[in-house]
This record gives sequence, structure tokens and C-alpha cells, in this order.
Amino acid sequence: MIIGSHVSYNGLLVSVETALSYGANTFMFYTGAPQNTVRKPIDEQVVKSAHKLMKENNIDINNIICHAPYIINLANKDKIDSWLFGIAFLKEEINRCENMGVKYIVIHPGSAVNHTKEDALNNIIEALNEVIDNDTKVTVLIETMAGKGTECGINLEEIKYIIENIIYKNKIGVCIDTCHLNDSGIDLDNFDTYLDDFDKLIGIDKLKCVHLNDSLNAIGARKDRHANIGYGTIGFDTLINIAYNKRLEKIPKILETPYIEDYPPYKFEIRQIKDKKFNPNLKNDVILYYLEQK
Ligand code: FE
Ligand code: FE
Ligand code: ZN
Repeated sequence: MIIGSHVSYNGLLVSVETALSYGANTFMFYTGAPQNTVRKPIDEQVVKSAHKLMKENNIDINNIICHAPYIINLANKDKIDSWLFGIAFLKEEINRCENMGVKYIVIHPGSAVNHTKEDALNNIIEALNEVIDNDTKVTVLIETMAGKGTECGINLEEIKYIIENIIYKNKIGVCIDTCHLNDSGIDLDNFDTYLDDFDKLIGIDKLKCVHLNDSLNAIGARKDRHANIGYGTIGFDTLINIAYNKRLEKIPKILETPYIEDYPPYKFEIRQIKDKKFNPNLKNDVILYYLEQK
């Protein structure tokens, strides 16, 4: 089981240390605050130490995921400066990933705002074809979205359309998010049917990462509010079935579940998943553990 969570970033070494403290064997990070684009230069020495620590602990760099800031919107060309900035910033993010040896970057496709869906998807394609060239060493993963507002990439057809039109197809892949799938109307109790459809339309080899989250909202709610594993509408057993699905065995599962009273729940959620045993005391366990650490 390749499992980890979103971790904080203050240089790659901190992220590795944090992941290890959660009992994880992978992780996902933002290269700075997810809601802005202020970024520090990368310290080569820190990256070296991070790689050393990963090696010592059997963390495979090929399973590490970077997430682009979610304020980038490649779908909206109305404010041309923002769209161009998104492209330039994504190129820099890819450079940073390459400098750190990270192989995957997840992006949210974007929101159409005042564009038609078709125009918005074409804007995304145009932007990604600007970003990805023959020398790109990172694979860009398009995340499946919940359908909130005017979001793009909310079903397999839209994702397929984007991928079909990318020039360098070996540099593009997909990240599914279980909360987003649920909220977009996918019944995760029939997850294998979804994977069959995915395989038929896109090809299962394009699936490179799973965001494993429960959801606060009902199926089809188009909301996107994550819940702790087993504490939402998807439920523990369904999420366990997804985490242990044979077809997903070799790809990283990343938790993006909410903090509990300002404490990260991941150490205890990862344990739940490894043990396949629901923890009805998750909240108390997390709070007690971090109070004792103080
Ligand atoms: Fe995301
Ligand atoms: Fe996600
Ligand atoms: Zn989400």
C-alpha cells in the first residue's frame, strides 16, 4: 500500500520528516502556500538531505506528488494576464519539481467562469500545450473535480477531451479524488464500474494518483467539502475498497482530509487504513496525541 497525505512544506526535508511522523511511505506537498504564488528558491543541500532520508526509509521518489496552487485558472482567458501568469507559474512549478526529482504535479483544470464549457476546455488544452514540451520530465496530472460552480474536468468525457488534445500525451495523466467523484455524482459503491469506464475512455494506465477523502455532502451535491476517513457520506468500507483495489495497487493514495482542532489527523487515518479498521475515537486520539507532544 502506497499511502500518505498532504504535508506542509518548508523545504523538501521538512515534508519527508512530516510524512515519516505519520507512518506514511509517500506524500503530497505544495511548493508554498496553496492559495498564493509566492515561492522561495530551492536549496540543493536540503533536497539532497531529503532524498537521503527518503532512501533510508524506503520512500520512493517516484511516488511523491506535488500539487500546483489552486488559484491558477487555465480555463479562463477573460483576464489574459492571469491566464498567461498561470502558464508561466506552472512552468516554474515544473522546473522546481524537476530540481527536486519529483515526477508528478497535480493541477485543478480550472473554472469556465463566463466561457462555455467547450471554450474553457480548449483554453486548458492551449495552456497545457504551452506548458508541456518534449523536454518536460514531470507528468502533469489533471484532477477530477466535484462540479462546484463552473469547474471543468467534472466527468470522464471532459478529462478525455483534454488528454486527447495534448501534444505530448506521455506527459499527461489523471488524479482521481474520491470526494470530488462522489460530489460529481459517481456512486463509489460501484467503484469498479467507474474504473471500467475510465479504462474504456481514457486508459487505466493514465491514472497515476488517488486523493482519498471522505465527503461531507451527498452524492451529486457538487460541493467539494472533504471529511475524515469514515466520517462522511462515502463511508469507511467503500474507501477501504478503493484503497485496496487491485488495479490501483501501484499508485499513491493521498489523504487530504481536514485537520481536527488544528491537528493533522493523518497518522491515525493512515493507521485506520493499514489496519482496515474504523477508529470511532479518531478525533479524541488525534487531539490527545498532539497535546501530549507539546
Ligand atoms: Fe486538488
Ligand atoms: Fe484533491
Ligand atoms: Zn476537494
